[in-house]
Amino acid sequence: MAIYNPKSLKAEEFINDEEIQETLAYAEANKANLALIDEILEKARPKPTATGCACAGLTHREASVLLACEDPDKIKKMYEIAEEIKLAFYGNRIVIFAPLYLSNYCVNGCLYCPYHLKNKHISRKKLTQDEVRAEVIALQDMGHKRLAIESGEDPVNNPIEYILDCINTIYSVHHKNGDIRRVNVNIAATTVENYRRLKDAGIGTYILFQETYHKKSYEELHPTGPKHNYDYHTEAMDRAMEGGIDDVGLGVLFGLEMYKYEFAGLIMHAEHLEAVHGVGPHTISVPRVKHADDIDPSAFDNGIDDETFAKITACIRLAVPYTGMIISTRESEEVRTKLLRLGISQVSGGSRTSVGGYTETERPHDTEQFDVSDQRSLDEVVRWLMEHGHIPSFCTACYRAGRTGDRFMSLCKNGQILNCCHPNALMTLSEYLEDYAAPETKEAGYALVEQELKRIPRDKVREVAAQNIQEIRQSNRRDFRF
Ligand code: SAM
Repeated sequence: MAIYNPKSLKAEEFINDEEIQETLAYAEANKANLALIDEILEKARPKPTATGCACAGLTHREASVLLACEDPDKIKKMYEIAEEIKLAFYGNRIVIFAPLYLSNYCVNGCLYCPYHLKNKHISRKKLTQDEVRAEVIALQDMGHKRLAIESGEDPVNNPIEYILDCINTIYSVHHKNGDIRRVNVNIAATTVENYRRLKDAGIGTYILFQETYHKKSYEELHPTGPKHNYDYHTEAMDRAMEGGIDDVGLGVLFGLEMYKYEFAGLIMHAEHLEAVHGVGPHTISVPRVKHADDIDPSAFDNGIDDETFAKITACIRLAVPYTGMIISTRESEEVRTKLLRLGISQVSGGSRTSVGGYTETERPHDTEQFDVSDQRSLDEVVRWLMEHGHIPSFCTACYRAGRTGDRFMSLCKNGQILNCCHPNALMTLSEYLEDYAAPETKEAGYALVEQELKRIPRDKVREVAAQNIQEIRQSNRRDFRF
C-alpha cells in the first residue's frame, strides 16, 4: 500500500487515499470542536511583520476541519478571514481574462465533457491561424489583454506544434492599441519536452484541472483515451515544473466526487508543490460541472449548493493564502458577487466557450464546452466589479518582468502590491477606459482611478503612475508598468 509522502513524485504517495480517508475522519470527529476551530482560524489569520504581513496557511487536516464545521458563527469568521487575506495580499484588484477555444477535437472519453470522442452530434472545429487572428482581434476589441487557451486532446488534430503556432499567432496580433500580453494554457497533460516548448513560447500559467483526486472515480469518469491514466495526469504539474514552467494552476471539477475528498486532495496537491518545488500553485480554480451538449450535470450525484461552494472557496483561501483564485463565467453574477468577497482574485469576462465564438454576432452553441451562466459583456463585468469596490485589472506585468514562481510569491508575501501591482492595475484599467469602455464605465472608472491613486504609499511611484495615466489619456502610448 502506498504511504503518504508530500515530497514523493508518485501520485499515489502525494495524493494518498489512506491519508485523505484519515483526514476526513479527523475532520468529522472535530467538526464541532470549537476550541480547535478557533485555534485553526487564529493560525490562518494574517499577522503583521516588519515588511507588511504574513500568513501561515493551513495543512490539509486543519483546512478539512474548517470545511466540515457547521457552526454559523465560525463560518462567518472563515468568510471574514478569507476576505482579510485576499485584501492583504492581492488588495482590491481583480484580474480579468477570457478563455479562447482553439479546437474541440478530442480523443478522450470524459463523461462530463461534451467534447468526448463518442459525441457524434457536436460539430467539430479547429481554428486556422487566420481564424485565431480574427478571434484575437475580436478579443482585443473588447479590451482583453490576457487569455487562457483551451483545447481538446487530439495528437493528430491538435498536436503541440498546432498549440505553439496558435500561441505565436496570438502574441503577433497588435490591432489598434490592443495586444495580448499573457497567454495561459489549459491543455491536456503532456511530456517534459512539450512543457519546455510551451515555456519557450512564452506562456504564463499552465493550467490543468485534476477533475477528481479520487483515483477509482477518476478512472471511471475517464474510461478511454490518454486521460484515463490517473498517475500521468496527477503528476503533470511536476513535469511542467521540470520543463521550466514556474506558474501552474490547479483545479477540481466540483460535482463529480464528494467535495470533502476533493478539497483534501487539492490542498495536498498544493502542499506537494510547495514541498518539492518550493513554490505552491500560482492559481487555484473552482469550476462546477455545468449543463452542456450531451451532458446532464444531475447525472453526477455530488453536486454542491451555493453555500457549500462559498465555504469551499473561503477554506481554500485560508489554506493557500498566496495563491491566485479564479472563478469563471460557469457561475452566475449572483454567485460571483458573493465569491469575490471570499478570496477570488481573477475572473473571466465576456467569455464564449465555443470554437470561433468571438467572431460571431450571436452567441453560438454548436461547439460550446459548457453553458455560460454569466453572459454579460466585458464592459458590464468591468462596471460591476467597480460598483462592488474592486479594481478591474488587465495587468500582465509580473511574468513579463520575470516575476514568476517564488519571485512572484515573495512580492506577494512582502506586501509590495500597493507599490507595484496596484499602480499597474490602475494604468491597465486606464488603457481599458480610454480605448474600449462605454461612456458611463469610463466616467466611473476614472473617478475610481483618481481615488485609488492616493492609496499608493511611495510618493515617487504615485507621481509616475499619475503621469503615465495622463499620457494614456492624451496619447496612444500604452503598456506602462512597474
Ligand atoms: N482538454 C484539456 C484536459 O484534458 O485537461 C483541458 C481543456 S478543457 C477545454 C477545460 C476544462 O473544462 C476541463 O479540465 C474540465 O474541468 C472543464 N469541463 C469539461 N466539461 C465541463 C462541463 N460540462 N462543465 C463545466 N466544466 C467542464
